[in-house]
Amino acid sequence: MTHAHPLHVDVEVACLCCLAPQPFHFTSLSDQVVCSLCVHHIGAEKSERRDLEHVKLWASRWALAETAHADYIAETDALLFGRDKDLTALRDQVAELSAIVAGQFTAGIEGVRSLLQNDLVKRAERNTELARRQIDWAMAGIWRIEALHHDAAAQKCSCGRMAGSCDESAAIDPLRQALLDWEKKNVALLQGGRRHGLPADHPAVLAQRIR
Ligand SMILES: [Zn+2]
Ligand SMILES: [Zn+2]
Ligand SMILES: [Zn+2]
Repeated sequence: MTHAHPLHVDVEVACLCCLAPQPFHFTSLSDQVVCSLCVHHIGAEKSERRDLEHVKLWASRWALAETAHADYIAETDALLFGRDKDLTALRDQVAELSAIVAGQFTAGIEGVRSLLQNDLVKRAERNTELARRQIDWAMAGIWRIEALHHDAAAQKCSCGRMAGSCDESAAIDPLRQALLDWEKKNVALLQGGRRHGLPADHPAVLAQRIR
């Protein structure tokens, strides 16, 4: 009787005697498909011993399988328990991180707000505003002096004195450029509808009022 199993490799095949899957290494198609435990079972006169050995074999195999199954169940339980613990830990971590992120966001907003409300910042803003008003006040004064004392026709100051002999004109000479810049800036503020430092009788203010 020949078999159809592959040759020259380790295979697990059901033994034709005990019917249990057993390791085989066939070298010929005419090799008997009978395991090493069963080689002495062949022959009708040995049937009693053969049956007893088969029962023992199957009983031990069943016990092994049972143990393996119990082990597998225990392992799976342990694995599931571990996963549960991991999941709980992860959920806790997510909650913790969410709380931290939410807290930091609130803290960030509060931080910016408190910085804006900071006394130093407020004081600096107030000082800047104060300085700006003082400059406006001084420049408006200079502007009035300049309105009375600027170069007019025929080498004369607008006040009537000869150019070069007017002390007021000479006094404001170093400030004329700064005055022009300030005037330009404030006219732009006025035309933009913003707060400006021009005096009420400045031509730009009068023109704006007429318009
Ligand atoms: Zn066998
Ligand atoms: Zn057998
Ligand atoms: Zn003058």
